Amino acid sequence: MSNSLSVCNYLKKYKKLFSNEIYASPNKFKYKKIENRKSHSYDIDQYRSLISNCQECQLFETRKNFVFGSGDPNADLLLVGEAPGLEEDERGIPFVGRAGKLLDKILLAIGLNRYERVFILNVLKCRPPENRNPLQSEIEKCLPYLKQQIKFINPKLIVALGKVAAKSLTGQDIPLGVMRESTYEYKGIPLKVTYHPAALLRNQSLKKFAWEDFKWVKSQMEI
Ligand code: URA
Repeated sequence: MSNSLSVCNYLKKYKKLFSNEIYASPNKFKYKKIENRKSHSYDIDQYRSLISNCQECQLFETRKNFVFGSGDPNADLLLVGEAPGLEEDERGIPFVGRAGKLLDKILLAIGLNRYERVFILNVLKCRPPENRNPLQSEIEKCLPYLKQQIKFINPKLIVALGKVAAKSLTGQDIPLGVMRESTYEYKGIPLKVTYHPAALLRNQSLKKFAWEDFKWVKSQMEI
């Protein structure tokens, strides 16, 4: 059996026993990531195959695609949105609709793009019908996937786009306008909160605040 197949089988058995989150003892089960930060991209691909048939909540019944996330698996910057919308569900790629096009422009304005040094994903991997707000029970089922993805990617900086991502990663339920004024940490990784691009499309007056936040992101990426 090839190494990758045996790792996959091991993870499947582990999932049956312990659910979606992987608990790694530093001595017994080291991800390659821990030993060598930038040479582990096969791990996240295996993880995608492992979870993409998820049926943990009812959203699997209506989804067209499980939207795992996309970008550079060795990204320095991780952007976390809320949930796939119509176009993301159709194509299986996050942020490809109107909000995604704005996000692409913002990234370009700070000298980045979604393919290099950046990984984009959502808290929920499946589209809620009619783009309704995610239920707390759906967030709780899906969050272990996001946590595991963060472990694999191990970015230098996380940006939470909007309230759902901010609350899921900080555990705090306070207004976004207040949250964006602080820098948080997620397991030792700096975490910045800013407005969701869809909010910027709805309310142009928020754009200046988002622009300040992304200029700060740019300054962090240059370090
Ligand atoms: N909004 C999100 O939060 N995520 C997407 O992928 C698209 C729109």
